Amino acid sequence: MKSPFLLSCSFLLIVAAPSRAQSPARWKAHDMARPRPPVVAPAKQALPVPAPPDALVLFDGTSLAEWRSADGGPAKWVIKEGAIESVPGSGYLYSARAFGDAQLHVEWAAPVPARGEGQGRGNSGVFLMGLYEVQVLDSYQNDTYPDGQAAAIYGQYPPLVNACRPPGEWQTYDILFRRPRFRPDGSLAQAARVTVLHNGILVQDAVEPWGPTAWLQHLPYTAHADKLPLAFQDHGNPVRYRNIWLRQPLEDSAPGPKPDPRPVVNLPAASLDRYVGKYRVVGEAATTYTVSRHDRQLRCDFQYNPLTLELVPHSEREFSLRWTAGEIEFDLRPDGRVAGLSFKLGGETRTATRVD
Ligand code: MG
Repeated sequence: MKSPFLLSCSFLLIVAAPSRAQSPARWKAHDMARPRPPVVAPAKQALPVPAPPDALVLFDGTSLAEWRSADGGPAKWVIKEGAIESVPGSGYLYSARAFGDAQLHVEWAAPVPARGEGQGRGNSGVFLMGLYEVQVLDSYQNDTYPDGQAAAIYGQYPPLVNACRPPGEWQTYDILFRRPRFRPDGSLAQAARVTVLHNGILVQDAVEPWGPTAWLQHLPYTAHADKLPLAFQDHGNPVRYRNIWLRQPLEDSAPGPKPDPRPVVNLPAASLDRYVGKYRVVGEAATTYTVSRHDRQLRCDFQYNPLTLELVPHSEREFSLRWTAGEIEFDLRPDGRVAGLSFKLGGETRTATRVD
């Protein structure tokens, strides 16, 4: 015989199942019922967009030296009129070099006349690290599932708007990509992050793919190298690309600050009042700093009252600011009187004399 507890559990299961079905936490991939992103006609752009001086130009219209086919051999796509064109059946095009975090600029054009419908019209794709696809598709007056239209993170995130130009016209993708981070044990520490501007319009705002691009499947992240080749998809349509350049942001390599070797000292509360007062900046008669005491802490307003900043003591003379690289040195006389201070910040030093 069922206990009352089990009976109540079965009742909960019966009511919970339909409500989950009615409000799914996430759209299934390729759902045609998903709302279409609004169409926004992009403004004219001055094209091609010049590469910044520190960018690596991967395709300048003349050479395939930076490109390979899937087997590592010479690229099988062809150069036509300064653009590189996908050759149907030739396979994906891979960059010879590998990249992780990247700022990528790509210009592309869908074939004219437009042929095919839905996913069959001007389909290609920019595969970041060869794994995460920003969809390339002729989405100009061409309906398909929203997570598969131009500038979608394929199968996952539709673009915020449809900013597609007509086929044959050059279009830009500016992609900011932060690669996924994995822990030493291979587990995911941080998902990838992708921001995309399509023809200068924001269409993906720092979205986090939930895994590599897949078709009809939902693949989780699997640990991979920090740098992998960039790839362009051959989907059977002669899509063209030109002016491909890439910048590699520094990956967490900037050195951190050196720890302050000076100890923080505890000055006796009774000695703190000698610093309290007004100090007038030499050469700037209108500028005064006010040092005040709050319990056992000295603060200074640096003339931006009511914002008083904590002074951290390192000795009777030397103080620093808690959150900013500012240094204060008090002019401490042999009789114990404080006659002034100097304030160093941002390469400048101001000297101030005590006025009360
Ligand atoms: Mg594609």
